[in-house]
Amino acid sequence: MSEKQLPLWYEKGLSFKCTGCGGCCSKEPGYVWLSETDIEIARAHLKLSRSDYLKKYTRQVNGRISLIELPNYDCIFLKENRCSIYGARPKQCRQFPFWKSNISSPEAWEEAALTCEGINHKDAPLLSPKEIHDWQES
Ligand code: SF4
Repeated sequence: MSEKQLPLWYEKGLSFKCTGCGGCCSKEPGYVWLSETDIEIARAHLKLSRSDYLKKYTRQVNGRISLIELPNYDCIFLKENRCSIYGARPKQCRQFPFWKSNISSPEAWEEAALTCEGINHKDAPLLSPKEIHDWQES
């Protein structure tokens, strides 16, 4: 017998519009985990060899590769509060703020809103669960 699917808590959608404030790329310590695809896209964008890209912009953390974070917690690609490789940014960045952890509960979403001013912004469109899913897959 198949289990009945529970309705999503955000069935009516979630409001989000990026204001470009840069908050998700700075202010707090964190990791931006890179896949091989992320590395290849950014490396090609910057016209660097894989090894030069890894040396200049990334760090090893417990066997995984993350972008370097500056001492003030800014992402190494944050320039004048903007992502300097926006079109070639990693998947983890593209998926924000719709990370599974952020949409796991209303409380988690409100917590994410404390650092992302685009969440529940007054001018933000209401994104449907399908749009949120497509965003996560982008
Ligand atoms: S914190 Fe939110 S509103 Fe600010 S740049 Fe990041 S995604 Fe956009």
